[in-house]
Amino acid sequence: MSDKKQKIIPDEFIPEVSSKVVTIDNQDFLLQNEAMFTFYQRSAGELSPFFLGIKNDRKILGCKCTNCGLVRVPPMMTHCTDCDFAPTKLVEVGQTGTMLSTPPITYFATSMFADKAPFGRGRVILEGADTALSVMLYTTTGILVPGLIIKGTKVKVVFRDDRVGQISDIFCVPASELTPQQAAKKGLLQSEINWEAPKQPTFPKPTDKDIADFKKSVKEMQALAAKMSQSKRARRAIEGWKRNIAVKTKAGEFSMYIDNGDFKIEERKLESPDFVIACEDPATLLDGLMYKGSITDSVIMKKLWLSKNLEFNTIFKLDRLARFLVMEQKEKKAK
Ligand SMILES: [Zn+2]
Repeated sequence: MSDKKQKIIPDEFIPEVSSKVVTIDNQDFLLQNEAMFTFYQRSAGELSPFFLGIKNDRKILGCKCTNCGLVRVPPMMTHCTDCDFAPTKLVEVGQTGTMLSTPPITYFATSMFADKAPFGRGRVILEGADTALSVMLYTTTGILVPGLIIKGTKVKVVFRDDRVGQISDIFCVPASELTPQQAAKKGLLQSEINWEAPKQPTFPKPTDKDIADFKKSVKEMQALAAKMSQSKRARRAIEGWKRNIAVKTKAGEFSMYIDNGDFKIEERKLESPDFVIACEDPATLLDGLMYKGSITDSVIMKKLWLSKNLEFNTIFKLDRLARFLVMEQKEKKAK
């Protein structure tokens, strides 16, 4: 996972301050845009120890009521509202916990979180805590799909290597995916986990028909890829993007190459792909590329597996590639 520092709004999305005149029904209208920025800094206030604990000490802090002993995480109260405002004191809580509910998954995030999606959003009760902490959730087994983390799943807090003092400095993964040492370690870093050994799904043995269908699907995809590479509009969907993808299906393997507008499919195995797509039936991918149903949906519906979670982004681009080609063809027909 990359944690490259980014601006909240990337430069290319910030328009120049400008104005122009548009004429509608022989009348001129002035159209202008202004830059609107805020340069305020806000204080974490009484929650500062909590965020500094995450940032500097890889600790999770809660507040414990000196009267009733209730431990709230995060420590959002200096006085207990249940105990006539008895003071609370900061305590450290555990870094493993249990999901309070089944987390929904964000696949399409806002620009602020786009580099972190897909991720689960859930509430975890950490050991030693009485209230739930909101966290992001990931898996080390490939793409995050529904059902991997559910209510009651035991999870472990992981700290990102670069921390700035915010809640997204931490996330949780299922404890069962870690070694006992990792699960027991306090302040476990993201870089200490092996993200490169995902669990690829296994498929049944192919029939002769499966193999024939596979060959046919690959041919169709190759023809489609050639069209996409020639379409000015489709090329834009994968502009500046470069990925070598190994695709494994029940009846065989092929490779897809995305290279700054060029899209190519070859019936051969890739030794060190950027990531692996596994889908039992190649028609799932073919349909997506033909713009019959989306590939992103197939991922979410678990018909198409990715070896790397953040490569969902590439799948999103493949969907756009399919859509842009169809749009261009429609426009040409309309002319
Ligand atoms: Zn209390």
